[in-house]
Amino acid sequence: MKALAKTSSREGLELVEAETPRPGPGEVLIKVAAASICGTDLHIYSWDEWSRSRISPPRIIGHEFCGHVEEVGPGVEGFAPGDYVSAETHIYCGRCYMCRTGRAHLCENVSIIGIDRDGAFAEYIVVPAKVLWKNDPALPAKIASLQEPFGNAVHAVKRAEVGGKRVVIIGDGPIGIFACAIARVLGARDVWLVGLSETRLAAGRRLGADAVVNASSRDPVAAIREWTGGKGADVVLEMSGSPAAWDNALRAVRPGGRVIAFGLSRDKIPWDLNRGVFKDIEVLGIVGRLIFETWYEASELLAELDLTPAVTDELPLEEFEAGFERLFRREAVKVVLYP
Ligand SMILES: [Zn+2]
Ligand SMILES: [Zn+2]
Repeated sequence: MKALAKTSSREGLELVEAETPRPGPGEVLIKVAAASICGTDLHIYSWDEWSRSRISPPRIIGHEFCGHVEEVGPGVEGFAPGDYVSAETHIYCGRCYMCRTGRAHLCENVSIIGIDRDGAFAEYIVVPAKVLWKNDPALPAKIASLQEPFGNAVHAVKRAEVGGKRVVIIGDGPIGIFACAIARVLGARDVWLVGLSETRLAAGRRLGADAVVNASSRDPVAAIREWTGGKGADVVLEMSGSPAAWDNALRAVRPGGRVIAFGLSRDKIPWDLNRGVFKDIEVLGIVGRLIFETWYEASELLAELDLTPAVTDELPLEEFEAGFERLFRREAVKVVLYP
């Protein structure tokens, strides 16, 4: 089968001819219909410090996908050939303390699709049946392939408790843009998006942001103060991972407000602790999705929301280079690949 893999310890990815995997006990073989490129895949492409410490080539990458069940392995119940599925990317063990206390997304023995095992940028993928999610047959493949990052945004916005609030989202990547749409549907009073790319800010507006600010041309904290009559935002979701953005989040939130820490930073971010203390704020770290609570919530939201404006590029798998390039240049929002 065709697959996109990290074949050696250097920058880039390679289109390879790989052996079609076979489903073992408890596993399912899926024919991939669509797979979207994630920020994580960009890190793996660039072969940065994190990827070098985590990935052992050769590895087929890609973890956001949908497809149809081709074959089920021994002992699999509840799935049959033809089922239209996506997958939770965190393969949890089911035995550790976190799994056994209802927090499988924090599993101590997690294995991640496309990182710790072969991924979805391929014609076929094998995953354990326990992480599969049955899709609504009416959901277009390009949208079904986005449910994993969309679920990240759902989990973050739910924890932020945005109903009736003035909400600021910092970070115009796909998850920040999805968060705009979700905050709107979940009853935020105002949704403002801060970012650095005009294309992505425009997509944020189409998905529900009331106003956007480009932080490269205007001080976002000043803009937020102006929007809120000097008070500051009730809730700030920091989804960029930049040290400057983290500082902006602490300055933009009103006293007694809530800050969601979601964006990952390459380096440790020192922060103004006294500001946080004196403002009496809450800071919540958010990771992954609740398995499978968030998937149920996400599929209900997808019935109300149209994520189409977030898919800026659709390409055959062979043309992956063009998609990665557009993402590195921040010209694309979501790139969907078709194997
Ligand atoms: Zn992802
Ligand atoms: Zn576990």
